[in-house]
Amino acid sequence: MPGFEIFGEEEKKEILEVLETGVLFRYEFPNERKGVYKVRTFEEKFAAYCGVRHGQAVTSGTAALKVAMAALGIGPGDEVITQGFTFVATWEAILDIGAIAVFAEVDETLNLDPAELEKKITAKTRLIIPVHMMGAAARIEEIKVIADRHGIPVLEDTAQAAGASLHGRRLGSFGVCGTFSFDPVKTMTTGEGGMIVTNDEKLMRDMSEYHDHGHDHAVNPGGRGGEGRSFIGFNYRMMELQGAIGLAQLAKLDGIVAAQQENKKAMKALVAKLPGVSFRTILDEQGDNASFLAFFLPDKEQAQTVKKALAENGAGAISFAENTWHYYPKWEHLLAGATLARSGWPFVEPGGKKRVVYDAQVLPKSAAIMDRLLVYPVPIKLSDERLGQIAAAVDKAVAALS
Ligand SMILES: *Cc1c(COP(=O)(O)O)cnc(C)c1O
Repeated sequence: MPGFEIFGEEEKKEILEVLETGVLFRYEFPNERKGVYKVRTFEEKFAAYCGVRHGQAVTSGTAALKVAMAALGIGPGDEVITQGFTFVATWEAILDIGAIAVFAEVDETLNLDPAELEKKITAKTRLIIPVHMMGAAARIEEIKVIADRHGIPVLEDTAQAAGASLHGRRLGSFGVCGTFSFDPVKTMTTGEGGMIVTNDEKLMRDMSEYHDHGHDHAVNPGGRGGEGRSFIGFNYRMMELQGAIGLAQLAKLDGIVAAQQENKKAMKALVAKLPGVSFRTILDEQGDNASFLAFFLPDKEQAQTVKKALAENGAGAISFAENTWHYYPKWEHLLAGATLARSGWPFVEPGGKKRVVYDAQVLPKSAAIMDRLLVYPVPIKLSDERLGQIAAAVDKAVAALS
């Protein structure tokens, strides 16, 4: 990761096909566009790749979450459960739609712990969003069983796991829908962009209409201006240039994953030299998109020692426990209930009553895991020189531990 490492002639060719028509809009202009429908084709191909019937392209992975939740009818009064290790977008979308985000613990998959999920389910729970963090599966099969037993739909936040699967089935295809991001640092990228995949016809129709101001996209004599609408929507449309880049990147996705798996193996062999090291639980090694190598030291102190030695020797690893974007206790703006709305929404009701208070201490199991965690992003292109640098840094870390 990320996909821009291998931008090339394929992306250029796709983009030029769009520029030659002059049509950047995904709808209309039937004569000018000469049969070129990049976003629509990208939707079809990406959905097929995921083994799912429909794809709805949108402007970002955050928009994908929002559009999917809108179409699922989520709003004020509802609770949505997700995990305390994710990118801020997951809960931003939940709060933005008016629901309350409820955070559950992760286990050593670094994804939602099914047993802990069950403890968070209440009469108000309307949706569960497991996140397939860092390219590898959450315990989605177990999560589905629990969700089904309670009659609650599952939306998979698959933003970080394009190209990944579990037991032969693509991530994003287990729940009622799966959302993807193609932002600049994702496994495949269109600069900005996102997609929702689903087999649900009604959900697909509602997402298609909602993401485009309510346009019903029904053929009629008045063209786009004559289209009907059955509910209010918004604009989350993807443009043709993004669709074009998406097509080129999708064609490279399996190659990206294969290269990362190879590189991850080489990096893992080096990291394995650290005394006491263990690795993230990967439920299906073959299905891992291998965009990250995540490893644990026996305790926080040793993790800090290793982190320091690696950084000082030019091969720094990420500590997500200290990262402000991905880990619950570090989301100070969420914990503080900071919002631009003068009313205090979504943390405060219009009448002044608090809707929710987020306490930094509520996820002790996650904290115990995250404090011991270090992570290397896995590049698509890994030079011998870089590998040698990591090897040397690991040797220094081994020395620092003894
Ligand atoms: C990147 C990301 C998103 C948001 O995607 P954008 O395209 O950046 O809006 C959502 N969830 C997770 C887990 C992500 O990593």
